[in-house]
Amino acid sequence: MAPSRPKGRTRLTKRNSAPAAPSYPLTTPVTALPRVGPAIAARLARLGIRTVQDLLFHWPRTWLDLTAPTPVAALVGGSVGVVEGELSELVFTPAIAKRRARVTGVITDVAGDRLPVVWHNQSFLRRVLANGQRWLCTGPIRWNFQQNVWELSNPQRATERAVLPIYPETAGITSSFLRGLVAEVLPHIALPNAVDELRPDTVSLPFLAAVRAVHQPVSVAAARAARQRLALDELVFVQHQLLGQRTEGAATGAVPVPPSVETLRTFVRQLPFELTDDQRRIGWSIANLLDSPAPVRHMVQGDVGTGKTVVGLLAVLSALAAGRSVYWMVPTQLLARQLAERIPKLLGISRFPVVLVTARDRPAAVAGGTLYVGTHALLTLPGDPAVVIVDEQHRFGVEQQRRLARSGSHLLTMTATPIPRTLLLALYDERTFSQLRMRPSMQQPVQTTVLRATERSLAAATLGAAVARGEQGFVIVPRIEAGEGERGPTPSLAETRTAYQSLLPGVRFSAYHGQLDPAEQERIMAAYLAREIDVLVATSVVEVGLDVPNATTMVIEQADWFGLAQLHQLRGRVGRGALAGTCIVLHGQDAAPERLTALARSLDGFALAELDLTIRGPGDLLGELQAGWGRLKLADVTDLALVRQSRDLASQLAADTSASQAAWRALYQYLRDPDDTSA
Ligand code: ADP
Ligand code: MG
Repeated sequence: MAPSRPKGRTRLTKRNSAPAAPSYPLTTPVTALPRVGPAIAARLARLGIRTVQDLLFHWPRTWLDLTAPTPVAALVGGSVGVVEGELSELVFTPAIAKRRARVTGVITDVAGDRLPVVWHNQSFLRRVLANGQRWLCTGPIRWNFQQNVWELSNPQRATERAVLPIYPETAGITSSFLRGLVAEVLPHIALPNAVDELRPDTVSLPFLAAVRAVHQPVSVAAARAARQRLALDELVFVQHQLLGQRTEGAATGAVPVPPSVETLRTFVRQLPFELTDDQRRIGWSIANLLDSPAPVRHMVQGDVGTGKTVVGLLAVLSALAAGRSVYWMVPTQLLARQLAERIPKLLGISRFPVVLVTARDRPAAVAGGTLYVGTHALLTLPGDPAVVIVDEQHRFGVEQQRRLARSGSHLLTMTATPIPRTLLLALYDERTFSQLRMRPSMQQPVQTTVLRATERSLAAATLGAAVARGEQGFVIVPRIEAGEGERGPTPSLAETRTAYQSLLPGVRFSAYHGQLDPAEQERIMAAYLAREIDVLVATSVVEVGLDVPNATTMVIEQADWFGLAQLHQLRGRVGRGALAGTCIVLHGQDAAPERLTALARSLDGFALAELDLTIRGPGDLLGELQAGWGRLKLADVTDLALVRQSRDLASQLAADTSASQAAWRALYQYLRDPDDTSA
């Protein structure tokens, strides 16, 4: 690669003061590298590159293969070509007024065939290119309408046949520049060789060799293989951390909570319903699991309405009976209040005190044998709960969950987000999660109908009929304010409410959303529960955990705005009592989107999750899982084979804290959870 001429005295001085044979520890700031002054350093920082390690871990997006040039005579217009030849007839045109700077020339291959070449907006090439130079160039072959010729347009260059990595770039930092920097440091990296000791399976491709192969590959295939090896590294690292989290505190230890069979029996016997088999099996198994001196981390997944609350109670009753406290955290004040009212009813004669904890209601002291139900205000409640439950877990950040589960507490997370079992098994081992698939038999299935937005009056009529029967309902809208999104315009919540009000003059509507102050929310919800309001026009704040048995009918406006999982959760708000539920989803398309027809066909959240996985990919679905995975740069969590492999490797790793582990941790520091402040 032709080096650019260093300009300015300061940089020359810096260069001269560098050691003759530089060695670059990974922590070396990029400013210690030749050609990196403050301005370049600032640009590099925009890419997250501050040290040599950042530079090495700034992985290529892709690679350009310049190993096999094509004779100019064999090139096809409109395709991407690789040409090797000599440059001539170079003309450098500076930017004038509105015209971009331009470099034009001709590249002539060994057979003597000529191809015009052009670079736009790269005035620095004046310092790099000269007539008579041999270059390999690759780029699209475009038709030039002014000259009526095919030309090679903005090609990438190399001085010899090579595979060129293409990096994520930013203004003023090209891949070519990054390649130069990497070439500077790669031969001189001081890397703790301990890193390879952790992955004895990789003798054939040690860490440093893999890093080299990614940045300066001999072939694209070799680059991909090396990248896969490094991706596996990332995953093993994260898996290892997850394993560590699961066993963390094992040294200090949790207090085992032996199941109090009598308490559990009494509780189950007085419930107004029979437990489903899933509730019984999972509830008891968690109650047994908590009899462990190591803090337990367990996730319970179950669709809305599968009765997770009872499972949670089965899990914590023994702790309460033993005189320990339990914290149960939910995402909103409303849910906290509702749960604090519902739990004593479920507990019946098992009269454990239940205390509500919100920003406003804070107990002065924490007592044993008490269940504290609350919002994130629980995070700052002192005390050492034996068990902590994070309900509707997907609404909380990983860091919040971790803070609530202080060392020594068992942590139970509950989520209605169904995650395909295949995916879970790849990420976690069997004992760390349970899935409630059965529904209480008294629950009637929610009937779902898909309508076009223009058929709103039909939806309103259904709503009106339900209200006439003395039932209640919801109209769900995507946003509070009117707006123009990528899915088109949306009216405001108030406009939608007015539209429904005019269709159903006798019905009592009220708006409900997150921007109302908590007292107002509370007042409206109380009125709704007291049946003084018939229909809530609401945003998806009503999504989580809300339990209004008399609510039977839901209309979801602009359903295209919501994910499949979310739609499924939303409709879980109706039909929770003995009355059958109806859900009408309105969409703005000509034909019903596949997601919506699937929603109408299936009531199985897990099946819908599998479907979402195939229709939209894992993005949304994995959100919550991914949160625990930090910022993977190379690995794809949906590569299940790789993830499984990483899990097996991670569990084989020695659990000691040797120097090699420290080195490895330092290397993959960037993978740590971004909001993890404990690091
Ligand atoms: P989830 O939290 O999983 O969405 P809940 O625990 O709120 O569900 O339960 C939903 C409703 O079903 C509640 O009204 C609850 O009392 C009721 N329920 C729970 N288990 C059963 C059961 N086995 N039989 C009948 N009703 C049940
Ligand atoms: Mg719940």
